[in-house]
Amino acid sequence: MGRRAHVIAVPYPQQGHVMPLMKLSHRLAERGVKVTFLTTEFIYAKIMWALPQKGEEHSGIHIVSVPDGLEAEHDRKDGMVIDSMAKVMPGHLEELIRKMEESGEGRIDCVIVDTLLGWALEVAVKMGINRAAFCPYAVGLLAMDIQFPKLMEAGIVDSNGTTVKDEVIQLSPGMPAMNTTEIIWNSPDNPMVQEIMLGFVLSINQAVKLSNWILCNSFYELDPSLHDLIPNLRPIGPLLMSNHLQQHVGSFWQEDSTCLSWLDKQPPCSVVYVAFGSITIFSQHQFDELALGLELIGRPFLWVVRSDLTAGSDIVYPDGFKDRVAHHGKIVMWAPQQKVLAHPSTACFITHCGWNSTTEGLITGVPFISWPYFVDQFYNERCICDIWKVGLGLSPDKDGIISRHEIKSKVESLLCDQGIRANALKLKEMARKSISEDGSSSKNLEDFIEQIRC
Ligand code: UDP
Repeated sequence: MGRRAHVIAVPYPQQGHVMPLMKLSHRLAERGVKVTFLTTEFIYAKIMWALPQKGEEHSGIHIVSVPDGLEAEHDRKDGMVIDSMAKVMPGHLEELIRKMEESGEGRIDCVIVDTLLGWALEVAVKMGINRAAFCPYAVGLLAMDIQFPKLMEAGIVDSNGTTVKDEVIQLSPGMPAMNTTEIIWNSPDNPMVQEIMLGFVLSINQAVKLSNWILCNSFYELDPSLHDLIPNLRPIGPLLMSNHLQQHVGSFWQEDSTCLSWLDKQPPCSVVYVAFGSITIFSQHQFDELALGLELIGRPFLWVVRSDLTAGSDIVYPDGFKDRVAHHGKIVMWAPQQKVLAHPSTACFITHCGWNSTTEGLITGVPFISWPYFVDQFYNERCICDIWKVGLGLSPDKDGIISRHEIKSKVESLLCDQGIRANALKLKEMARKSISEDGSSSKNLEDFIEQIRC
């Protein structure tokens, strides 16, 4: 056993990025690594409800917050935070590292930085510190993103990321074949999204170049061929929340664990679990159809309805809905999702296909009904339905609405499909094995820790 290594982890400020990097930080802390988790004050205010005390170490992790450069009242939904962080945070990170080193804490052995924050890796290069880029989304998308310069050279996309030539690309047998118009940075109808996505692609390319390791929340066996496409790739997932933690540090919302005792009372493999992550927003019409679809299915359901799930200011259910489903439906604002998916009563997962939700569903062997909302979720849906064959997609009607009848019919088809069930169980075993003591992800993590200690 060598000296105690010290890393600084820097997440992109969104729920689906903070949570998995926090899980990785716990994995490292459990193995004796000292972790400083550097986030913005805005995010700190969202996660502090689960922390015992400001400034104190939590399970071996020291959480530090710095300003992101925007006013406190700014809602940070317009992408401005990306530029603002890149302007003000390199200085904060550099100062933090200097202070730590001067205070006798010893050297920083590595920074672990979300691939979307290339500036933090530049700081580490400047200060001569080792670097790991952290990829909390599908590795196939990272592989696609690093093709960007080549695609531009070949005249398939222009320098704004707009697709110029319509072609089908399949980078590896484990990835869905994609038309170049489907690539996530191609959003000509939405210039703001396109600009943000292009910025991400450039940051990802920079991150891959500047990093000694690329740690990803996935497992080798899910698609071994990706290793030929991405240098220094180290899958270390699926990352799970530590069982000893009462509350999930890193969660923006307080989990409502009453749904676990409710699940205990439901028959095995009976409950339809419905959750769309932290960002998805439904129109009132679509929300009503979903509610009525859950009612129509007639099975027990557990539905996560965040207070901002619909476009309106309040959540409004169809007339009489809550009374009619009171005996078999449970609605919560935020669930302990990992525990819900692992519960024996859970039968299937209606999901927006965020990468964290996808990996959590894979490792618990729960089949999916996929209902992507934006960007990478469409790619994840293709993996779920077409490549791994562990779920079914929903087809919208002529007005773009997923009807209550479509929801009922797909859930019924999914629950009768023995092939999908068998595939889900196979992947569950593979995922579990990868994080078992001798599994590929555990070994990758151990090797990483060994290497940063040297
Ligand atoms: N999550 C949760 N409780 C909920 C809904 C979601 O704990 O009620 C967690 C979920 O387990 C996952 C994360 O929130 O770890 C959402 O990340 P994902 O990548 O699936 O979606 P995003 O929020 O980024 O769209």
